[in-house]
Amino acid sequence: MPAARIARKEFDVTNDRHALFAAHAYLPQGWRRDVLLEWNEGGVLTAVSPDTAAPAGVARARGPIAPGMPNLHSHAFQRAMAGLAEYRAQAADNFWSWRDLMYRFAARMTPEALQSIARWLYVEMLKAGYTSVCEFHYLHHAPNGRGYANVAELGQRVVEAASQAGIGMTMLPVLYQYSGFNQRDPRPDQRRFLNTPEALLDLLSTLRRAKPAHGALTYGVAPHSLRAVSEASLRALLDGLDADLPRAPVHIHIAEQTGEVDECVAATGARPVAWLLDRFDVDARWCLVHATHVDAKETAALAASGAVAGLCPTTEANLGDGVFPAHDYLGANGQMGIGSDSHIAVDWRSELRLLEYGQRLVRRQRNVLASDARAQVAERLFDAALAGGARASGRAVGALAVGHRADWLVFDQTHPSLDARSPDTWLAGVVFCEHGGSPIVEVHTGGRCVVRDGRHEDEDQAYAGYREAVARLLA
Ligand code: ZN
Repeated sequence: MPAARIARKEFDVTNDRHALFAAHAYLPQGWRRDVLLEWNEGGVLTAVSPDTAAPAGVARARGPIAPGMPNLHSHAFQRAMAGLAEYRAQAADNFWSWRDLMYRFAARMTPEALQSIARWLYVEMLKAGYTSVCEFHYLHHAPNGRGYANVAELGQRVVEAASQAGIGMTMLPVLYQYSGFNQRDPRPDQRRFLNTPEALLDLLSTLRRAKPAHGALTYGVAPHSLRAVSEASLRALLDGLDADLPRAPVHIHIAEQTGEVDECVAATGARPVAWLLDRFDVDARWCLVHATHVDAKETAALAASGAVAGLCPTTEANLGDGVFPAHDYLGANGQMGIGSDSHIAVDWRSELRLLEYGQRLVRRQRNVLASDARAQVAERLFDAALAGGARASGRAVGALAVGHRADWLVFDQTHPSLDARSPDTWLAGVVFCEHGGSPIVEVHTGGRCVVRDGRHEDEDQAYAGYREAVARLLA
């Protein structure tokens, strides 16, 4: 065991009394002084008291604290192929050629490898300050397309990985039926993903029996995309879900590629977001992932619906998807959150920075996503991603407020991005400065410290498992 490994009991020292005093804490109303946090055995905040004298015997945070960031979109297994597709495989390399490579990788995945990869990924997320994740889980069956003896085997592995790492999870089993619009037959390399709505709901029930929901775990569903389901099957899925889990989150890939927008128009006469909003009761329980290609009407209608636009800027840039009209959407009070998706980056700071930089490059302006009410662009984006990420998660996360999960980050106040500066510039330093290592030194989930001094409590073991899994997959 390496000497750097930290004994588990050292992670728990601040939690003995379920209380923490922070000289600075980022509450829903902004940075506040002298804040006492208290939480219960279940990891839920029971009191958040600013301007309080530090009580005797209560641990003090070692720096300013802020809510942990929800990650609203993840395909865990793709972590292991991040960086392996950064070469030109053919004259015109694009999303679809990347997808072929990803399918070949998915075909080799085993339950053990998936759990090891997901466990390490979630350790990386926690280190980066993501304290919960929505897992858009579409790898269901054995390589020959038949179900495992336990139909929910692979989903269960991913849920186990989340609890090993200590990250909160919204598990979203994916309905994948077709390879394209008009119910085109699936391809042979999609057979590990395929289900009918009934089979997918059965898989979800099996999974919930094996791993019942609790404070750090909840469930929803994810119709993969409009090209992978039909109108009837989407309706059957939602009806079945409502019978069992009314108001549970529903996530869908919606308009990532111009090619799929064109196919949607050809098949239905409407663009994907317009089609969905027109036919389904899309509201706050929905998360439209990669709403990249929306026209002005769709942008306004999506914002008015209360659904969350699930933005994954580093993946969308890596895959050459396009740029979401974030300025207009936020201007219309649209809800948004961020996800690490393919995990080419696992860092919410990079997602927020690139979201803003994409707008700057397109519009040739600075601080595009600030508003009259919120002049600090980093604070506006941080708040938006916390609120939208929480809504998409269907869990009370993303705020240091009573009734919410006790999930927070501790920043190093002596990091050059914060040191000698005033609190109103701290988040700008955290999001936009790329100097040196991360300013996040501790991460707590459900009131428990899982990352201390930048290291996760199970980092060495999780990495050893990940490394072995990748070596086998690439052998
Ligand atoms: Zn995705």
